[in-house]
Amino acid sequence: MEEELLRVEGITKRFGGVTALDDVSFSINKGESLTLVGQNGSGKSTMIKIISGVYTPDEGDIYIDGKHYGKMSPLQSIQAGIQVIYQDFSLFPNLTVAENIALNDLIISGAKTVNWNEVKDFAREGLRKINVDIPLAALVQDLSTADRQLIAISKAILADAKLIIMDEPTTALTQNEVKALFKVIHDLNQQGIATIFVSHKLTEVREIGERTIILRNGQKILDQDATELDIKTIEYQMTGRHIDRSSIQYSEPKEDEVIFEVKDFNLSHGFFDVSFKLYKNEVLGITGLLGSGRTELALSLFGQKPADSGTIILEGKEIKINSIFDATSNGIGFVPEDRLKEGLFLPQTINNNIAAKIIDSLKNKLGFLDQKKKMDLAGEWIERLDVKTPHGELPASSLSGGNQQRLVLAKWLAFNPKVLILNGPTVGVDVGSKAAIHDLIRNLAKEGMGIILMSDDIPELMHTCNRILLMHRGRIVEEFDRESTNEDDLNTKLIADDRDENQKRQVE
Ligand code: ADP
Ligand code: MG
Repeated sequence: MEEELLRVEGITKRFGGVTALDDVSFSINKGESLTLVGQNGSGKSTMIKIISGVYTPDEGDIYIDGKHYGKMSPLQSIQAGIQVIYQDFSLFPNLTVAENIALNDLIISGAKTVNWNEVKDFAREGLRKINVDIPLAALVQDLSTADRQLIAISKAILADAKLIIMDEPTTALTQNEVKALFKVIHDLNQQGIATIFVSHKLTEVREIGERTIILRNGQKILDQDATELDIKTIEYQMTGRHIDRSSIQYSEPKEDEVIFEVKDFNLSHGFFDVSFKLYKNEVLGITGLLGSGRTELALSLFGQKPADSGTIILEGKEIKINSIFDATSNGIGFVPEDRLKEGLFLPQTINNNIAAKIIDSLKNKLGFLDQKKKMDLAGEWIERLDVKTPHGELPASSLSGGNQQRLVLAKWLAFNPKVLILNGPTVGVDVGSKAAIHDLIRNLAKEGMGIILMSDDIPELMHTCNRILLMHRGRIVEEFDRESTNEDDLNTKLIADDRDENQKRQVE
């Protein structure tokens, strides 16, 4: 007999003019695996914050183990067995694995002296419960994202979790790590611990959960057994529209007009002998796995990590890029992979973020910033990129992840660069927004902007690029013409490189 663990009824949550959740009800049984999906901004994180007591709902009730909670505090939620694993994992990087796992327990016990053997035993037990083996004495800062995540899960189990919630846990994981995580989640369910897995990745939805709930615009659109769902249905229910890929209108590059060229570009420990041309109206993809030199190349082209040697030619003239200033003053724009760290001033308003790169052009004759001009321009880009916000004077931090990503794009588009380098422009972005960003990229190329798209998202490359360069260990090893390749082929090539690496690691 299945026993109910948690039930929410009629949950509504508003933020100013935005209804983040609109009368949402659902329940989860002990040991059940639930996947919560929806596009960015659909209300997933808000729901989790309500279940964990971080937000109080405007309307609705929460029941855990049959006990009713009107207002629930974070502590009450933890005491009821709810544990959330946040994307930053809330670990201490300069403490060891053992210390991190045992930390809560140490604090609660209030012991003045620490018995390190006990700490280790306790931590070992935590890792054993999820069948993983991570050196207890290692510093957390030296671990991979996947291992940190496992440590956070161990901590949650040791805190007597009945329900473990993971908000978009696979964003930074490799495919093998995702598989390992799925196995851990499965084991948790076997032990009677329920899990809520939040995702916007369609392929994950079917693999992981027994049941799927789809949110769209704060409303529950679907709640059903995952095995009965196909990807097309999920995609349709998430976005409310059918996404048709057969009708993609690619940009048509002019191959007699090179707008940007890189020759014999080198950066020690980064990349070697990199040469390529970017044609007018072209979207050029550069792909490769983590460590292929792809990110270093992007950073060098933008002056953030100047190359050791090589030549860059922009519109027929040789230019030097030794700093970000060199790059921007030559008309080169860059959308970074880590938008939060590099792309935005989160405490600043949305409008100010959009205007950041072109502030000089918005000054009037007296040298004062023309506020109206700024608002008009920002408003235009908010509209064009469909940034979801009540108004542009709110801080950038109020936007959901996908909307922050659109904001970074807006900032660079307002700057109107000649060449725009995009590094993983849709990492963490849902299908609907993704398709919109891809449309935009192709349209910008059609309008004449040269675009270099760095990504390891094969469908993304296939949906936007004219040509794709594959990097491996710092070198460009192959060039693909989109029309004469396909997703499977590219995927195989990309992973073939990975296999070499694994074999090499085993030999070493
Ligand atoms: P998801 O996690 O599905 O991407 P969120 O729950 O983060 O979505 O956001 C749902 C909606 O609520 C979005 O429109 C977002 O902008 C808004 N929102 C979320 N948190 C806040 C907040 N603290 N202040 C204002 N608006 C917010
Ligand atoms: Mg979220």
